[in-house]
Amino acid sequence: MFNKILIANRGEIACRVIQTARKMGIASVAVYSDADRNARHVKLADEAVYIGPSASSESYLVVKKIINAALDTGAQAIHPGYGFLSENADLCRHCAANNLVFIGPPVDAILAMGSKSAAKKIMANADVPLVPGYHGEDQNPAVLKQAADSMGYPVLLKAAAGGGGKGMRAVYAEDEFDQALAAAKREAQTSFNDDLMLVEKYLQKPRHVEIQVFCDQHDNAVYLFERDCSLQRRHQKVIEEAPAPGLSEELRQRMGSAAIQAAKAINYQGAGTVEFLLDSSGAFFFMEMNTRLQVEHPVTEMITGQDLVEWQLRVANGETLPMRQDQLTIHGHAFEARIYAEDPDNDFLPSTGTLHQLRAPIESNHVRIDSGVVEGDEVSIFYDPMIAKLIVWDSDRARALKRLTDALSDFCINGVTSNIPFLYNLASTAAFRSGDVDTGFIEEHQDEIFHRRQEDLDYAAPLAAQAILAKRAERSKQLAEHSLEPSSPWHLTDNWRTTGIEQHSLAMLINDQPVQLKADTSVMPAGIKVVNNGEHHFSNSSDFNLFTPQGVFHCTEAQANLGLDEDNHSSGNLAAPMNGTVVTLLVEAGASVSKGQPLLVMEAMKMEHTIAAPTDGQVGEFFYQAGDLVDGGAELLIFVAADISAAL
Ligand code: ADP
Repeated sequence: MFNKILIANRGEIACRVIQTARKMGIASVAVYSDADRNARHVKLADEAVYIGPSASSESYLVVKKIINAALDTGAQAIHPGYGFLSENADLCRHCAANNLVFIGPPVDAILAMGSKSAAKKIMANADVPLVPGYHGEDQNPAVLKQAADSMGYPVLLKAAAGGGGKGMRAVYAEDEFDQALAAAKREAQTSFNDDLMLVEKYLQKPRHVEIQVFCDQHDNAVYLFERDCSLQRRHQKVIEEAPAPGLSEELRQRMGSAAIQAAKAINYQGAGTVEFLLDSSGAFFFMEMNTRLQVEHPVTEMITGQDLVEWQLRVANGETLPMRQDQLTIHGHAFEARIYAEDPDNDFLPSTGTLHQLRAPIESNHVRIDSGVVEGDEVSIFYDPMIAKLIVWDSDRARALKRLTDALSDFCINGVTSNIPFLYNLASTAAFRSGDVDTGFIEEHQDEIFHRRQEDLDYAAPLAAQAILAKRAERSKQLAEHSLEPSSPWHLTDNWRTTGIEQHSLAMLINDQPVQLKADTSVMPAGIKVVNNGEHHFSNSSDFNLFTPQGVFHCTEAQANLGLDEDNHSSGNLAAPMNGTVVTLLVEAGASVSKGQPLLVMEAMKMEHTIAAPTDGQVGEFFYQAGDLVDGGAELLIFVAADISAAL
């Protein structure tokens, strides 16, 4: 076995590979850019080599720097992780030329699968079923259109060099074709410097089911079953699971055999993934093969009990596969949720900034966290804004899904916006619980996921009220405990009355919607979790998340009935919308202002944003001055709405 390997990557996957290397007694070398000087993968590795500026095009993507780092440190092999140079034939060739082992497939296999159209030709010859379509050389628009017309709409235009859903356009009718083709070509040219297009039949609501394969240098090949990655947004995976819900043993075997056929057709070695689309009739079609370890490999590890990075290292070292097909079995069910610094309510825009707080659920046999960042780290503009992968396992799908929602509600992330509420809502939908998934799932269920239905508010309002009353009762108890006269009713902040009847009129915001109701109990039903934002215990904060079986609701308690009768309220509007700089303050502290009046100007990404008064009111204190850098989400100033200040 190797004594030392270099990991040509960063973030969670670099950490992941280092951990297995350590377990196997192999020393690890990390590489890092300026932005990653203090990154977790650098600290975990035995050695680390600086490879240049933060932009990956000047560091992680420069083959020569990676090769030199390996040679300088005496590493014998290079693990490329995923992304970056993981499917780069050049790195593979340079490894060979420098007597370094590339921990991945032979260069010919990378090249064969590098183009979706070339890959399809090979697969057609190997009798692997394909999505019907045109993948020829002739790129004359008339020829492409003729192909689309004859297969029938809708069709999907795809860049042959594509990845990450780029250069892809669905075309629903003949007269949209020319325009869509031009747009897809432009995008492909900018993203991949290659505008070769293929045309495929656009399958309606297929499932994305992929097979994990492994081959060694001695002609052995196995499949480690499938992953269902149908939950996607813009053709990108969000939650993955293994095994695929409802897949029959017979279909599993057929897909597994087809995947092995695909791998053998290109003399594959190492870890690979053969992606298929599966339609509702049980027919499946080859889409592409990824010649690397995938982001979602942990769900396969959880159900097979195998360490796929260890398998990669053994195969690269010339050993035979650790197991035969008949030794591999599926045990239980696993999910992976990709936790990102992004804002699902704002078109999934990446959210950069400092991770002021990052608390993950406790790891166990059931919960695994793969992460490349720790509390205090920066989510920068330079790389993928992934915070962590949450992987859960249990003996069956229903139990594993409960583990997933529980673990998601245990995450506490502050400083950047995260997609945790989105993931939690997604995992809480009845359709997902029943395993009824396809690639159109998120779009189809968006009203439920984003709580746009009145029934969601009707459901959440009494629960939020209970939570508020429970918080008030807790507060009263704390006050009483610290008082000289513990039994005095004057310490109670709930609606204590001498008559003994408790009637509470509550006003609150639920997901930014004002809600008022009367409530008379403070007993929380089971299965509901209240998490104060920023804190995991009750405090005087009136801003909290309510995790329920129907999703998570963001709730703000309003004082008495103030400010909610109209469409204005005092909270939440005066935070910085993103990371940026304060350009100027437009009013004095203490000034009375009217609704809509500009208060402060910020600049971010060369664009100015004006922060205006949400309602008539008074400006208290400014927390920043002109020229100050501000993190997105930070409170900029104190603002008291007029109706509230009048009533105080
Ligand atoms: P990329 O390499 O950019 O990720 P893929 O070819 O892997 O692109 O496709 C990504 C996703 O797009 C698939 O998982 C699937 O949801 C959707 N997709 C791709 N091809 C088709 C098709 N012919 N019909 C329907 N959906 C498709």
